[in-house]
Amino acid sequence: MAGGAARELEAILDAAVDPVIACGPDECILYINAAAERLLGWDREQLMGRPVTDLFPPRLHRFHGFSLPRYLLSRRKVLGGRPTRVFALRRDGVELQVEMTVGATGTNSHERIVLTMRRLHEVIDSLEEPVEHIPGGPDVATHHEETVDRLYRLLVENAPLSIFHFDRAPIITACNERFARLIGTSKRNLVGLHLFTLRDENIIACVRESLRGRSCDYEGDYRSLTTGKVTPVRVRFAPCYAEDGTVEGGVGIVEDISERRRVEAEREENLAQMDLLFRGAPVGIGFLDTNLRYVRVNETLARINGIPADAHPGHTLPELLGEPGALAEQGPRHVLRTGEPLVDMESTSDEDLRVPGPRRYFRGSFYPVRTPDGRILGVGVVLEDITERKRAEVERAHLYREAQEAIRVRDDFLSIASHELKTPLTPLSLRLATLERRLERGENLEPGVLRHARHQLTRLTGLINDLLDASRIEAGRLALHPEATRFDLLVEHTLASMDGQKGNHVFDFELPPEAISVHGDAYRLEQVVSNLLENALKYSPDGGTIRVRLSLSEDVAVLSVTDPGIGIPEDQQQQLFDRYFRARNASTRSYGGLGLGLYISRDIVERHGGRIWVESEAGRGSTFYVALPTLSAARPALPQVWPDRHLH
Ligand code: ADP
Repeated sequence: MAGGAARELEAILDAAVDPVIACGPDECILYINAAAERLLGWDREQLMGRPVTDLFPPRLHRFHGFSLPRYLLSRRKVLGGRPTRVFALRRDGVELQVEMTVGATGTNSHERIVLTMRRLHEVIDSLEEPVEHIPGGPDVATHHEETVDRLYRLLVENAPLSIFHFDRAPIITACNERFARLIGTSKRNLVGLHLFTLRDENIIACVRESLRGRSCDYEGDYRSLTTGKVTPVRVRFAPCYAEDGTVEGGVGIVEDISERRRVEAEREENLAQMDLLFRGAPVGIGFLDTNLRYVRVNETLARINGIPADAHPGHTLPELLGEPGALAEQGPRHVLRTGEPLVDMESTSDEDLRVPGPRRYFRGSFYPVRTPDGRILGVGVVLEDITERKRAEVERAHLYREAQEAIRVRDDFLSIASHELKTPLTPLSLRLATLERRLERGENLEPGVLRHARHQLTRLTGLINDLLDASRIEAGRLALHPEATRFDLLVEHTLASMDGQKGNHVFDFELPPEAISVHGDAYRLEQVVSNLLENALKYSPDGGTIRVRLSLSEDVAVLSVTDPGIGIPEDQQQQLFDRYFRARNASTRSYGGLGLGLYISRDIVERHGGRIWVESEAGRGSTFYVALPTLSAARPALPQVWPDRHLH
């Protein structure tokens, strides 16, 4: 070959993907192109003039008296341009299975025989195509190669992966159907395609890397040039080595990771939701591994343990909480041992964990965490701070007890009140009957009988007034009508009015020489003083001396009433001024009363800006004190409740 046209043809043939070999009529090589050089491992110069049969194993040199090229030429018509599968012999003696077509041009000395080859793996997709095998049948080695080849094809076509081969160009030399689908075209279109035309930077980089003899992984989204469909893929590029150890191309294994991505996204979403619940849960949640070391805890549990959340992982409860932690570890340990959950265990932290501060109550549940096949991975802990609930329970129990107590007090009161109200009625009706009898008989009426009757009536009125006052106080409707009042005269007057009731008691009254004025409701203050005096008479033995002292200390007038009576047990002195309260040493049988006098007195005194209290010892008498601000002191604010309704 010479001249410009020949050089041009040579250049074109060199650019061809398939190996091409041309011989003269003597079947000696005249030309091989670059692809043939690469495939067979010869330099073009070395082959020039050599018999073409040198490129085939000796056993393929002759068929029915013909050389291989001539034989195939003779069968050209029958083959109709289809390739024949043969073995080519590489320079290093290795046999390559190739598909070969043979053609011829010219005659006599101008005859040119042209062999075109294609390495067999390059035509994996020709499985369905008519391929005529060399007559004479394959030998054992060929059979073995064919079996391997078939298996490889089977594998490649059925693999759940897209697979493609490429040569050094890098041109795709073979691929499976899945790869063609991924790219969005047919296999036929792909084989022979220059990989760089896929215009994917990452793929180009990986192909280059594999052609340098290094495997390379790439993960990303592949956008099909034809359909535009985006598929997330993971591609492994690996170099393919020729027998001489040089890289002759590579293989790309493409995994469609859409499903994996979807599952991952779903899992991430689930995890995000779980994480949110985990973090935000109002209960403490934690996971322990099989060595009972914390894997993670949420903020709530960290707060309960009093240790930051990130200080937990890798540590056991005893390591974190000391000895009490060992106690708290019993639940999880039990779960690991038995594989059974422990649910709703209640504990108190200060007893179990000795955590300082106010007593806290917890409810803990421990669950085995298992793999789907049942293996225990650790223990899940759910801890709830139920202190508030417990407190509410205690409070409820307390309120319940109080309600019960109130019911008891009401029942007691009803029986006491009916007894108290009935007590004056019996003598009253007796006196009235006596008076009636005497009147009928025309006898003189004794003033004593009438006085007695009136006394019982007064007592009855007093009881009823007390009841009314107590209910007014409860309703906030006890009206006061304060004015400048001589408190010293008021006490004196009250003492005098008690003359009829005092029996053999002696009143010992001392007061300062100067006048003591207060801003107050005289009627109500008298009620207070007479209540104290009546109690002193009632709760002390007949004939005892009752000392009444009025004194002035700065701007405060202090009245004290001391009796030598039964006194008040110390533990009951606090409640003395409560409604219906009667000390246990004042039995109903011995001492009548509704337990209202001191309650009413306290309300009156306090609303005058004063104070009432007692000093007493059971069995040794009592002293009741009333302190009131005098007129000269800043005038106390006396709430005026419905001043228009004077409810005395
Ligand atoms: P009562 O009508 O029962 O006397 P009070 O409110 O006046 O009601 O007194 C309440 C309780 O205080 C009495 O039931 C009694 O137990 C005790 N108490 C009051 N005054 C005295 C006193 N001078 N000595 C001993 N106990 C007293």
